Amino acid sequence: MKLLSGKFAIVTGAASPRGLGKATATLMAAHGATIGVLDLEATAAENVARELGDGHVGLACDVTDKAACETAAERLLSAWGRIDILVNNAGITQPLKIMTIEPENYDAVLDVNLRGTLYMSQAVIPQMRRQRSGSIVNLSSVSAQRGGGIFGGPHYSAAKAGILGLTKAIARELAPEGVRANAVCPGFIATDITEGKLTDAMREQILQGIPMGRVGTAEDVAGCCLFLASDLSSYVTGSEVDVNGGSLIH
Ligand code: NAD
Repeated sequence: MKLLSGKFAIVTGAASPRGLGKATATLMAAHGATIGVLDLEATAAENVARELGDGHVGLACDVTDKAACETAAERLLSAWGRIDILVNNAGITQPLKIMTIEPENYDAVLDVNLRGTLYMSQAVIPQMRRQRSGSIVNLSSVSAQRGGGIFGGPHYSAAKAGILGLTKAIARELAPEGVRANAVCPGFIATDITEGKLTDAMREQILQGIPMGRVGTAEDVAGCCLFLASDLSSYVTGSEVDVNGGSLIH
């Protein structure tokens, strides 16, 4: 059964070859959605759109730039006539400790993760309101819930916790208008965000904290995003869904 036939979906930060965004875009395309792949570089985004098949669109969009978010949403809306799904996936992290966070670190991490989620949501909400339907899926992290400890520093935890608050507030404000918003909290997933930055000892320590005994895959997260984007989750809004192999059972 295809869950997203006839739907139009934007996924930010979807050009990373092993990333959660690309895996989500791929699964949504397989379920019948037309995808707008957004990322920093046009060529990388266009290449992923081409890989997904005919009809998908790749665009350059820096989510920290409000005008760029609006332009990307307008271009896709004029081609599609509607926007059903937004996955705010673009994110960066830095493995810093509390006293080593410089102003530029704070700005970089908060801007991409939190400001970008706000700006891209603001770019699609007017259309979702007009449609009286839409699903926004925001990538938070287990770091927000347990105060870091996997890889990102305190500023990353703060940004991802900010996303939880923002998601719930969007969900509350837009629920009467038929627009849903939910957050996904992945645990440790092997992607390029940590590639080459993780020692064997760090990896071993992470594995010990995962009851399922394995690191997550991008497809594990994509499946959860698909559920939240689809009508299977039609009565789910303002929730945070853990995808972490049981590492935060409480
Ligand atoms: P990744 O580094 O593989 O991909 C992130 C993508 O975001 C890249 O393609 C990058 O170019 C893009 N990006 C960065 N800044 C951008 C900007 N300003 N505008 C647009 N695009 C931008 O990372 P990933 O592991 O696939 O992570 C995806 C999301 O999931 C992130 O929000 C991350 O914080 C979150 N997350 C990841 C994990 C994990 O273990 N991998 C765990 C929890 C949460």
